[in-house]
Parts: sequence; structure tokens; C-alpha cells
Amino acid sequence: MPSAAAPAPFWRAKTLEAMTRAEWESLCDGCGRCCLHKLRDDETDALAFTAVACRLLNLATCRCADYENRRKWVPDCVKLTPRRVAAADWLPPTCAYRLLAEGKDLPWWHPLVSGDPETVHRAGVSARGRAVRERDAGAFEDHLVAWPKRWPTRTAGPPPGPLRRPGSPAGARTPGAGPRTVVRRVPATAAAAARGRPTDRNGRR
Ligand code: SF4
Ligand code: SF4
Repeated sequence: MPSAAAPAPFWRAKTLEAMTRAEWESLCDGCGRCCLHKLRDDETDALAFTAVACRLLNLATCRCADYENRRKWVPDCVKLTPRRVAAADWLPPTCAYRLLAEGKDLPWWHPLVSGDPETVHRAGVSARGRAVRERDAGAFEDHLVAWPKRWPTRTAGPPPGPLRRPGSPAGARTPGAGPRTVVRRVPATAAAAARGRPTDRNGRR
């Protein structure tokens, strides 16, 4: 007699909008990429990441030091809505909210899949070891980096395939909602410099 199939995990069974708050929060993999400061070109709107971490980011855990009260300390930390995540160009390609919103599954290193919060660091996805403290940074323009916008294929493996929701076609887009970020607008010269700089083999500028 065949055994009953295990129920699908919540991120496959539910849309982002249908998730409970606890499920929603557990989607964050703790990579810290979205908590790096970003610069927006005033003229072209082009976005560049920096390695400078928000003042509330714990550089060891890559988690917000006061997530519940963060807006008190960092008023421009954005809490996303489903509509905002669909429009966001600053979410890293590895971000679970973005992946699900794009109709993709979670990768092997996501703590919900691996059962281990360290795999996001071991896979080379997180900001651990490559973020700069805000108070030590000086000019943000001196810390422009490309890696937060890239998928680290060497250790993380390829991006996950389409998400198969029960009762829905593979790859169907679902509305997303998401985390937080701080984006600062800067003169065109700074963002233009980011696009022109070479990167090392790890994708770092
Ligand atoms: S980029 Fe996405 S998964 Fe990573 S810390 Fe931000 S919200 Fe969480
Ligand atoms: S960007 Fe927001 S969530 Fe991230 S560390 Fe700063 S205050 Fe916390």
C-alpha cells in the first residue's frame, strides 16, 4: 500500500499573501544583503550596492540588531508590501521573497530547506566577512560592490527552478512582499563610477 505523500512546505503551498506572520518572517534567510546601503543615480536611476552595512546590522549574524523597533533608529528602512516587492529593483537575486515572487523555489542553502542557519553563510551568499561598518566607512562611494546583485554560483549552485504550487502551473508568478532596505540617492557621478569599476574573481569591487 503506498504511503501518503508528505504535505508541501508552506512556501510551496501558500502564496506570499496567504502566509502567517511567522511564516513570512521565516522566509528571510539572514543574508543581510538588503541591509547594505545602496546608491541611486540621480539622473539615470541606476542602482549600485555598497559594502557599507546599515548601522543596525549585526555583521556576525547578518541580522538586524533591533528588528521590531528598527524604524525608530532607521526611519528609511523600508517594509515592503506585495506591490513594493514586485516593483523593487534592489532585492538581491538570492532573496527568498524575490525568488518566490518570481515563481521560483527556495535554494538548498536556505535555512528552511537545510534546517541550518549557517548554510546561507557557508554558501557564500551572506554579507558575513565582507561588510563595512557604517561608522568606519567614510564616503559610501568608496565602497561600491557588485556581488550583492549576483548569484554566487561557485558555492551556492545554480538558481532554483520553478516553484510548483499544488494546483497551480509551474512557474506561475505570485505576488510578493518583502523585507527592508535603505536606498540613498546620490549624484550621477558616484553611481556611474560603480558601473565602470572592475571586479575581482569573487565579484567584489
Ligand atoms: S535579502 Fe531577503 S533573504 Fe536576505 S536578509 Fe534581506 S530580506 Fe532576508
Ligand atoms: S536595513 Fe532595516 S532591517 Fe536591515 S539592519 Fe537596517 S534597520 Fe535593520
